[in-house]
Amino acid sequence: MEKKGKLIIVSNRLPISVSKKAGKISFQRSIGGLATGLASFYKEYDSLWVGWPGIAYEKIREDFQQVKKELKKDKCVPVALPQSLVEQFYHGFCNKTIWPLFHYFPNYAVFSDTLWNAYKKGNELFAEALEDILRPGDTVWIHDFHLMLLPRLLRESIEDLSIGFFLHIPFPSSEIFRLMPWRDEVLEGLLGADLVGFHTADYVGHFLSSVRRILGYENSFNQILAENRMIQADVFPMGIDYKTFKAAVGTDEVKAEIERIKRRVGDSKVIISVDRLDYTKGLLHRLEAFERFLDRYPKWRGKVTFILLVVPSRVGVEQYAKLKKNLDEMVGRINGKYDTIGWIPIWYLYRSVPQSVLSALYAIGDVALITPIRDGMNLVAKEYVASKIDGNGVLVLGELAGAAREMGEAIIVSPLDRSGVADAIKQALEMPSEEKALRISAMQKRLERYDVVRWARDFMERLTHTKEKQAMFMGKKLAGRDEAALVKTYASAHNRVLFLDYDGTLVGFRDKPEKAMPDKELLEILERLTRQKATEIVIVSGRDPYTLQNWFSSLKVNIIAEHGVWLKEIDGDWEMIELLDSEWKEKVRPILELYTDRTPGSFIEEKEFSLVWHYRRCDPILATVRSRELKDALLQLIANLEIGVLEGNKVIEIKNTSINKGRAILHWLARKDYDFMFVAGDDWTDEDMFEVLPDWAYSIKIGFGISKARYRLDSPFELRQILMKLASIKGK
Ligand code: UDP
Repeated sequence: MEKKGKLIIVSNRLPISVSKKAGKISFQRSIGGLATGLASFYKEYDSLWVGWPGIAYEKIREDFQQVKKELKKDKCVPVALPQSLVEQFYHGFCNKTIWPLFHYFPNYAVFSDTLWNAYKKGNELFAEALEDILRPGDTVWIHDFHLMLLPRLLRESIEDLSIGFFLHIPFPSSEIFRLMPWRDEVLEGLLGADLVGFHTADYVGHFLSSVRRILGYENSFNQILAENRMIQADVFPMGIDYKTFKAAVGTDEVKAEIERIKRRVGDSKVIISVDRLDYTKGLLHRLEAFERFLDRYPKWRGKVTFILLVVPSRVGVEQYAKLKKNLDEMVGRINGKYDTIGWIPIWYLYRSVPQSVLSALYAIGDVALITPIRDGMNLVAKEYVASKIDGNGVLVLGELAGAAREMGEAIIVSPLDRSGVADAIKQALEMPSEEKALRISAMQKRLERYDVVRWARDFMERLTHTKEKQAMFMGKKLAGRDEAALVKTYASAHNRVLFLDYDGTLVGFRDKPEKAMPDKELLEILERLTRQKATEIVIVSGRDPYTLQNWFSSLKVNIIAEHGVWLKEIDGDWEMIELLDSEWKEKVRPILELYTDRTPGSFIEEKEFSLVWHYRRCDPILATVRSRELKDALLQLIANLEIGVLEGNKVIEIKNTSINKGRAILHWLARKDYDFMFVAGDDWTDEDMFEVLPDWAYSIKIGFGISKARYRLDSPFELRQILMKLASIKGK
């Protein structure tokens, strides 16, 4: 991998937590997970990790310099979050708005302007901390839902950054996401990144459809085409530190733990589950399913123990307190219903445990019962499988965990289907050893290959690749020295010709094509250019001759209409450049009419030698489906005709294939020995012009996208600036 600039990792929490007890500061390092995945980059890059150290700024104000110095030894930089933001940003908008909404609990989501403002403020504080560190050319990898506005903030404040963003939680369906009043800002924030990564293809799909429906940006091959940038979205299912989990099982410490637990459960089979206390984890439904299992299959009573490890989380938030109470009650009720002397069905642990105990639990669990109602990935499922070195275990996994997409050899269940889960428990407990080993080893192979290090590497490589792709999309900007050379060549030329496409080039797009008429400024620029004797202007448009003549009647410009069918010289009449027939229209029109009826908002434009189906104002999802269907239908129909189906900017155009703008301008160029040629266009119909030009000509693509043009400008506005400069040249 190319080593370029610094690599800055940004996450809400640093991998080192700071705490203060009795005036004494201490530091705890978190192990595994992200920190392991990213460790390998530390050697390659000059890298830093920026994040909140887990304690409010007020509590360490006097010690902040010391904290900073200590953390620096581990290449960590603390972001100072005041108590108010810890409350309203972290516990507030992050955990009370985004978390429930993105996990499909809209009823739990709090929508408050105060919390939203705190979220913005929190992101701004991170941006400020980063502005001191980042330089052009650096790479930033931002993690998770706490920092969704950060990519844009950084994009706007520092040039030439490579920005990656990874979301560790689900991205919900656009129907859920759009409930958030600040959805536009959040999407715009994310689109500041170059690469946006998710755990599963479903989340990518939801993100792309939200971007399309809410912001109107199209995508293809997971590439979003936003105003002047290409942003890649992609799937990177996060892995675990496989080797460490595998190795742990053999250590003396873990073996001792296993013995300790075995003494407690005796000969019982063991079901385990490990979760943070969270309503997304499906704890209550899981217990009900276990109860149904005991009900349905009494022979298992007394022979199986369910070790339910629940790690305290977000203590103090109302829903979590309620869940804790319900959980306690339900465990009590089920245990009360079935327990006997010497056997308690559920062994309930409400605490966090050391790594050795966790590994022992994984190792001892005959079955891991992991049934979240919604979970971005679920690492516990993967850790369990990695720890099953003897192959003697079965994973029962809820289908709404991201991990279910990769772990097809688990018994996949619907987490709310109590009977289904009860039956899955039985199936798991009674599964033959060979089958268990086969299933586990298939999953282990994948987990070993795509571990957390590989995951991080994959993401970073894709980010580099995305930057290269963007460069292809961008072309060379016509600015600075190149622009000066253009103006100089123009000034000294004797026979100049300017071929100018209209829509998207001289003017921006409008809802209705008839609204995009030339404004006063444009007419003035063109008028000034036409006053120069050595300059010829040719407007080259896909529009019909009638409209163009109407709009430009006051100017001494030449016009090529309908992508090269018609030509009108100054003061002349319309002539056809080549002879054409249009009988095919009678066959094609009824199909377009059918699709127009079936697609609200679409309409047909009829030109002399082409038919155009417009769908700019339609529902984007429906329009995508219908335009594909229409293209299929048309391609079959026109198989033996000399016509083609071409896709433009939210249009499908059917026209004679022998005609294009390139051929039309070749006719023009054959007339004279031009010593200055300038062609500007924005879409694929203009590529035909770029293609036929000599190398020395100035060809300019407006907007971004792969193009044969020599140069690029961002917008019609920028083109007008250049035309103004040319218009102000005195003399010829
Ligand atoms: N875990 C832990 N301490 C415990 C129990 C679990 O650190 O006492 C870890 C576990 O190893 C896993 C993580 O917590 O890596 C939980 O990750 P998961 O993706 O399953 O759920 P999340 O908590 O992120 O929603």
